[in-house]
Amino acid sequence: MTEEQVVLYERRGPVALVTMNRPGYGNAQNSAMTYALDAAFTRAVDDDEVKVVVLAGSGKHFSGGHDIGTPGRDIDRSFERKAVIHWDHVDKEGVESRFARESEVYLGMCRRWREIPKPMIAMVHGACIAGGLMLAWACDFIVASDDAFFSDPVVRMGIPGVEYFAHPWVMNPRAAKEFLYTGDRVPAERARELGMVNHVVPRADLETTVLGIAERIGAMPRLGLALTKKAVNQAEDLMGMRSGMDSVFGLHHAAHAHNAEVGRDSLAGMDARGMAEKNGRT
Ligand code: ZN
Repeated sequence: MTEEQVVLYERRGPVALVTMNRPGYGNAQNSAMTYALDAAFTRAVDDDEVKVVVLAGSGKHFSGGHDIGTPGRDIDRSFERKAVIHWDHVDKEGVESRFARESEVYLGMCRRWREIPKPMIAMVHGACIAGGLMLAWACDFIVASDDAFFSDPVVRMGIPGVEYFAHPWVMNPRAAKEFLYTGDRVPAERARELGMVNHVVPRADLETTVLGIAERIGAMPRLGLALTKKAVNQAEDLMGMRSGMDSVFGLHHAAHAHNAEVGRDSLAGMDARGMAEKNGRT
């Protein structure tokens, strides 16, 4: 599959609909998809007709998370770096590689996307797991269908949550602890109660609802929206999100390094199948 095909781009009036497109793998996010998303978002930002970006997933799920085991896993491949907060990880070893890679494709890219100067809505159905949370959370808000669920089970790997550690800010800290300690699936309605999701609608109404909200947002002036987004993001950062996330990124990498030091690999020997089995899924 080519890089273009792993992400689909469609403009509908003032809305750019960006769709992750690896449905055979639950839209598992490999680097090809990461950079294709970045290209799609750049295209939406540069198109003056686009006022709002909607991020969606094709097939049964929004996102099953980072690609930790499909045939398209591409962690040894170099891409033209976009976040440019570290050197290319390829041909490096240990922390020198892992920290560089995750600084670029996970933390760095998600932050770039969060700061895109146009409103972004995550349209979530089915699974939104681990790395999938980072994509949904980088958007300004989430509208979910009633079949959607959210989980971050990476504590099972001994890792304190995904790289873009927004958990205590997108829900409350105590809910975040339970969410992480158990790795349990949180259904859409509960996620709405926690403030992580703005609306829950029947699956059949999801797209209409999201496009309806996007149209209303699209009637607002472009600069007003950009400044408003920055205003709320700045407030969120003053509530500690950015610096908190930086400090947790270090803990995250301590966990990866510990796993690599005492065991088989930085993921504690877990792949997608292992995680699914441990989490009680088939
Ligand atoms: Zn990681």
